Amino acid sequence: MSRRPYDRSARAFEQACKLMPGGVNSPVRAYRAVEHVPVFIASGKGSRVYDVDGNQYIDYVCSWGALILGHAHPEVVKAVRDAAGLGTSYGAPTIAEAELAVQITSVFASIEKVRLVSSGTEAVMTAIRLARAYTGRDMIIKMEGCYHGHSDSLLVAAGSGAAEMGRPASAGVPQAVAGMTIVVPYNDLSQVQEAFRCHRGRIAAVIVEPVAANMGVIRPEPGYLEGLREICDMEGAVLLFDEVITGLRVALGGCQELYGIKADLTCLGKIVGGGLPLAAVGGSARIMDLLAPIGPVYQAGTLSGNPIATAAANATIRLLRQMKPYAQLEHRAAALEQGLIEAARAAGVPLQVNRVGSLMSCFFTDRPVRNLADVQSADMARFKRFFCNMLDAGIYLAPSGYEAMFLSTAHTQEDVERTIDAAKEAFSWLDDP
Ligand SMILES: *Cc1c(COP(=O)(O)O)cnc(C)c1O
Repeated sequence: MSRRPYDRSARAFEQACKLMPGGVNSPVRAYRAVEHVPVFIASGKGSRVYDVDGNQYIDYVCSWGALILGHAHPEVVKAVRDAAGLGTSYGAPTIAEAELAVQITSVFASIEKVRLVSSGTEAVMTAIRLARAYTGRDMIIKMEGCYHGHSDSLLVAAGSGAAEMGRPASAGVPQAVAGMTIVVPYNDLSQVQEAFRCHRGRIAAVIVEPVAANMGVIRPEPGYLEGLREICDMEGAVLLFDEVITGLRVALGGCQELYGIKADLTCLGKIVGGGLPLAAVGGSARIMDLLAPIGPVYQAGTLSGNPIATAAANATIRLLRQMKPYAQLEHRAAALEQGLIEAARAAGVPLQVNRVGSLMSCFFTDRPVRNLADVQSADMARFKRFFCNMLDAGIYLAPSGYEAMFLSTAHTQEDVERTIDAAKEAFSWLDDP
């Protein structure tokens, strides 16, 4: 593959920066963590994306995990085309939404009723409101390094101890709101217990990414999710699984199927929309029926259940249920993991690969990575050079050491082998300036 420069991307970015803050509509796309010109994408097909300079990449971002079937899957594209021809939005109920609800409730054992929204952020915001209404309590517990979208209650950083109120993690988030959230380390049950002890009867919900995938990938240690379930049952709090990444990814029924645990409320996004703006919150009828119009919890959306997004969602879930691709994804991702580990060892580069199914990430450290502090102790300067070397070799990774890699059903064994070859090369000159 002959490489072209990133000239057109550079020019497009310069123009975009004059008109949009940071030149982008979502911060990580600006490539600031890797100090590289962001690649402007022209198209995608299967496991590949093509940039505006004509460079081709094997894509491990897959729209941040949304595209488990790869880019422009013919059946998803057809569903979108067909739906668009019938009108793009009505703001009225459709039969396709009910079909999607049937699919979601069939796949997720803990979901009896579901509400469709347009983004993961909205799904989580609604779930938190439901949990507060259901319990009559205000506070929530979240885990450090887990991401749940950009609503005020969840853009919160840890206070000084397990029992301390959180601090705003973004300018513009009121302390009064951040103070309702307690942030504790991932994979640490004792801190969750401590928080409940200090705020008895005040905690509405524990929210967690059951496999953390927004600080790189971190697996839950044995007993962690079970422990959260037990604590919530004991304390009368709602257990909220944010499966926006893991739902339909680590198994059809997400982490709840993989680990055999039921959440009270589940948030879905990314894959569930088939690459279009659609997300969902679901749970038992008892909690979900608190939503307006039958309950007192207000929530609404002009484009909720949008017919085009719903068509893409239905097509994607239908395909996943037919294909049952999870053993294949596991097999392919395991080969990639093994290849990366061997390549790093041969090059004398300390590397940890954390992986659950087709969801994985690379940390440049010789120590196991089990929470945010471990992630922060990994060598991010090395990640940056690794990223740039891989990009030049036609491998498109997420432009931050705090993000995951995603495989799709379109990734072939040959893609994996090419990626391992590129990594061998990339590892060999990792410390060159
Ligand atoms: C991406 C993500 C969100 C937010 O979803 P958006 O659609 O970007 O608003 C929430 N939770 C998790 C776990 C995510 O990965």
